[in-house]
Amino acid sequence: MTISISDLSKEFQLKPSQVCSVLDDLGVEHDHTEFEGDQDVLELLRGALADMKGSKTITLKPNSTPRDIAAALDVPQPEVQKTLMMKMKVMATLTTTLKPDVAEKLVSEFGYDVQWADAPKPKPAVTAKPVKKPSGAQVRPPVVTIMGHVDHGKTSLLDYIRKANVAAKEHGGITQHIGAYQVELPEGKITFLDTPGHAAFTAMRARGAQVTDIAVLVVAADDGIMPQTIEAINHIKSAEVPMIVAVNKIDKPGANPDRILTQLTEHEVVPEAFGGQTPVAKVSALTGEGVPALLELLLLQAEVMELKADPKGKVEGTVIEAKLDKGRGPVATILVMEGTVKRGDAMLVGNTFGRIRTMTNYLGETVETAGPSTPVEILGLSDVPQAGDHIEIVADERTARGIAEGRAMVDREKSLKTPSRGMSLADLRRRMNEGEGKDLNLIVRGDVQGSVEAVKGMLEKIESDEVTVKVLHSGVGSISEGDILLASASNAICVGFNVKPEGGAKKEAERRKVEIRTYTIIYELIEDIEAAVKGMLEPKFREEYLGTVEIRLVFKLTKYGLVAGSHCTDGKITRNSRVRVTRGTEVVYDGKVASLKHVKEDVREITQGFDCGIQFDNWTGFKEGDVVEAFELVQI
Ligand code: GDP
Repeated sequence: MTISISDLSKEFQLKPSQVCSVLDDLGVEHDHTEFEGDQDVLELLRGALADMKGSKTITLKPNSTPRDIAAALDVPQPEVQKTLMMKMKVMATLTTTLKPDVAEKLVSEFGYDVQWADAPKPKPAVTAKPVKKPSGAQVRPPVVTIMGHVDHGKTSLLDYIRKANVAAKEHGGITQHIGAYQVELPEGKITFLDTPGHAAFTAMRARGAQVTDIAVLVVAADDGIMPQTIEAINHIKSAEVPMIVAVNKIDKPGANPDRILTQLTEHEVVPEAFGGQTPVAKVSALTGEGVPALLELLLLQAEVMELKADPKGKVEGTVIEAKLDKGRGPVATILVMEGTVKRGDAMLVGNTFGRIRTMTNYLGETVETAGPSTPVEILGLSDVPQAGDHIEIVADERTARGIAEGRAMVDREKSLKTPSRGMSLADLRRRMNEGEGKDLNLIVRGDVQGSVEAVKGMLEKIESDEVTVKVLHSGVGSISEGDILLASASNAICVGFNVKPEGGAKKEAERRKVEIRTYTIIYELIEDIEAAVKGMLEPKFREEYLGTVEIRLVFKLTKYGLVAGSHCTDGKITRNSRVRVTRGTEVVYDGKVASLKHVKEDVREITQGFDCGIQFDNWTGFKEGDVVEAFELVQI
């Protein structure tokens, strides 16, 4: 049966987001408005909700900010900030990531306890039916993505790590490029995704796949924080993935690693050296200096995260990259997250399927099995899947084919309707009308730094009870494809001030149903967003011209009253048209058609060259010679 989240939230006097977080804990799929479940699930859920209501506990995600905490506590943001600064003497902005102990202290000031979203839940109702982490769970290697500005040394760093550490020195140091590889250190393994840059990272997220456990942000010590660095920071933050900074090129004469630390703080990435949460390694991808320390930091972070998976569990995996090879057919690199994939398995991958014919690891060796966090290249799929596609193992190839074909059909139908993942201001209004509070995530682009800062500053000041405005990313220049991907992955709207979307971005936005709003006047931009946030944004309409009709004879019908006998001289007029009637240069009526007849019959429309009888809504002042312009209002 379908169960409404807002009904439950009313019943337990909890916020819909709290209900959703319990659903997440229970592993129940939902779309933030409703979910499918049977009586058992409902009872389990009710138990957990009752617990939640009874306890003075709020659930926080790791890396929560004061703003997140204000939302979770349901208290105004300034109050949280005041408590932080005045009582606890902690200097932080609304978007600073707080250390767990600081967050807990802050929350306790409001009389609540913190329950960390990824921590094991003490409540019996929630632990009653553990969904993840089955008993056979074992520690698995972390999956790491490297991001940063172009030329800051992402590729060099990946290369250095691979050459120095891949177990494969005996293989002559030769590794296959399969999109990912593993390094083996005495302390443990690390899996690196070999596709640097945030496009791949976000493209996968936009498809609902989050394979990265830890992100490394590379910043060149001689260059400092650049636009793509900021972009990467925002992508990482929005994915809520822990970040480790690698300050690279420290071997260069002009390098000033400490300056980078200060710069990072300006972007709300607070290095541990400054009392923040972000570990920093100073490295040179050229000489290798500091790289071992970086790897240690990665393993340490992984340990804290307690990454586990059950090699015997149900297979879960994701496509990292895929291509069509002329000789070999569809080739896909997959990363197994849970369970073990075996050669010969029948596999369902997104809309495609197949039987694994061969599996190759990053050393180019043929393997029979691949367990958690292991990247392998597979052959045997019927078609090329997409990066981010989910992998399932099914009984046999026929079943796989059946499901895959069914999915492809549903997808086609869906794409004909609206494959909406993005968010529009109209969606926001609808959600609010349904009583659902929501964050309004924005990506802001402007022509110059000054205007971007001004817009961002003003947007962040917008206050509303139901909606929190969050600027996920801002920058100078046109709205890019990357912006659209980020927007799609995080339900955001792209706002441009004095800039337009790039060609590719516009297409991508249409495909992903991401709303782009461009403005040339700052106050219009702010007003629109403000109105949306306050739930008052009226839909905007544009007049679309339909046609012109001339009134040639006014006559009276006993049953109906005055009728304008008219002739359509251009386009058409419809029964539902809006009309504007002019006499000479003066507009004498602005309203709607009340009835439209041809001879004596009611008709839906009259086209050019035909006569008709028109009556207007609440108006009979028409005269022979009046010109009627028909149009319709189209929502923008
Ligand atoms: P990417 O665009 O971020 O992948 O950057 P690359 O790895 O292609 O590096 C860009 C340039 O910086 C190349 O010429 C590298 O040789 C150079 N480079 C990368 N890392 C270092 C480093 O640690 N020290 C020095 N001196 N040069 C580096």
